[in-house]
Amino acid sequence: MPELPEVETIVRGLRSKLECNRFIEVEVYNENTIKNPKCIKEFKERIEGKKIREVKRRGKYILLILEDLAHVIIHLRMTGQLIYSEDQLNFSHLCLSAKLSKGYLYFNDIRKFGTISLLPKDDLAKEKGFWTLGVEPLEESFGIEYLKSKLDTGRPIKSLLLDQRVLAGLGNIYVDESLFLAGISPSKPAKTLSDEEISKLVSAIKFVLTKGIENKGTSFSDFVDSYGDKGTNQNFLQVYGRGGEKCKVCGNVLAKDKIAGRTTVFCLYCQK
Ligand SMILES: [Zn+2]
Repeated sequence: MPELPEVETIVRGLRSKLECNRFIEVEVYNENTIKNPKCIKEFKERIEGKKIREVKRRGKYILLILEDLAHVIIHLRMTGQLIYSEDQLNFSHLCLSAKLSKGYLYFNDIRKFGTISLLPKDDLAKEKGFWTLGVEPLEESFGIEYLKSKLDTGRPIKSLLLDQRVLAGLGNIYVDESLFLAGISPSKPAKTLSDEEISKLVSAIKFVLTKGIENKGTSFSDFVDSYGDKGTNQNFLQVYGRGGEKCKVCGNVLAKDKIAGRTTVFCLYCQK
């Protein structure tokens, strides 16, 4: 699933193409993709003719803010792809296509778990996962004080970091990488972290996300940016996807286990 760096890469690619562009005609091929409004006719009526004022990311969501301040809230889930093209293209799993005043925007989704909502500015609470998002990890509001205030729980630290209500945008890849870099075991109860560990963890999270964005995201299977190109961050991963291989720091074999319901790779020697 695309996480913060992948979604940020897509948003940066789309921004210059979409801002000030206008939806002319929208076709929906998979009705379940549209979460709000439920009626496809109403969705089309509310989006067609509207100019895109701003393209933003919040957590793992892509936001297209229209001229009337209504928000198009897009979540790619497992395999969703949002692609801009100057020319008309064909896709095998197309859920939505939009003819813009300049170019075309496509939402292609093999597994069809991705969602699109169109909500007026004062109705955003209807998109619950979006409305309850925690702080952005790359913003100043995320620091030692904030993380410390959330750690009063016996949950494994990995489970806490995956919780979008605590931190917006982290997923399995960047949580495993952050915990390795900070030298903290993913199963460690959150409330037992020392001040030094909290400080290392905050720096590690900011570092892996920043590097992920610089490398234009991690492409394991389906992630492509808004032009259909793959990222390169998979070449720099320390633990994610490397279970059974040697730790790049100490040379011991990396462990693989289910923690917080997710496949987790970590080093028993480097992470305590
Ligand atoms: Zn190691």
